[in-house]
Amino acid sequence: MADAAVKRHMEAMQRLLETGKHSDFEITCQNETFKVHKAIVCPQSKSFEKALTFAAGKEAEERKIYLPHDDAAMVGLLVQYFYKAEYDPIIADPMVPHFCNNDYYYQCDNKVVCPHHICGPETCGDDCFRFVCPICQSVLKGNGEQLVTHAKMYEIAEKYDVTGEKGLSAEKFKRVCSELWDDPSFPIAANLAFSTTPDKDMGLCSCEEKTILSNPSLWEKSEIEVLLSNSPGLALEVRYA
Ligand SMILES: [Zn+2]
Ligand SMILES: [Zn+2]
Ligand SMILES: [Zn+2]
Repeated sequence: MADAAVKRHMEAMQRLLETGKHSDFEITCQNETFKVHKAIVCPQSKSFEKALTFAAGKEAEERKIYLPHDDAAMVGLLVQYFYKAEYDPIIADPMVPHFCNNDYYYQCDNKVVCPHHICGPETCGDDCFRFVCPICQSVLKGNGEQLVTHAKMYEIAEKYDVTGEKGLSAEKFKRVCSELWDDPSFPIAANLAFSTTPDKDMGLCSCEEKTILSNPSLWEKSEIEVLLSNSPGLALEVRYA
């Protein structure tokens, strides 16, 4: 029952996002406008809460917040996060085989395997045996550019003080890094994260350091050399590894 209720709740949130019904302000970035709800956005972002509380002049009058310097695609994903506690591409957490096949006396205690598969009489008949979601798998394996997306999402979460989303992008970044460290996107994402995250914040950087240190073939890549020359501490560790 609880799972059905969770599913309904998620669908209701999705509808609010898609239709913009009851929306009480808008976020405008480049050519995109997102109809959102204060009651949903404010509790998740201190920056938006402040901006809306102290909005004055044009912004207050029009009930709009302008973000002219951000990447509209990333703002769109941030808005998606506010309503769904996830953003695209969505991958299962964790990617372990799922069982709920009765012959083997498995109890399905987590019916929401991932956003693409919810166990139940209508989907798999509660009969999953070593199930790994093919959509999640293909997203994880075949899409290296998402490393850059996760790094950018981490940055935007930092900027607008969205703690939950920051944790989520760090987690996604980590999961994808372990699969796709050799992808051409890794050095790009790594440089981006090192140049944009504050020094004390090691959310992404520590994951990158680990990835670089444990995969010596990366040290030869020119983008990684740039990164190493900009971070003396890391270069030293590589030299003595
Ligand atoms: Zn199941
Ligand atoms: Zn299932
Ligand atoms: Zn899935």
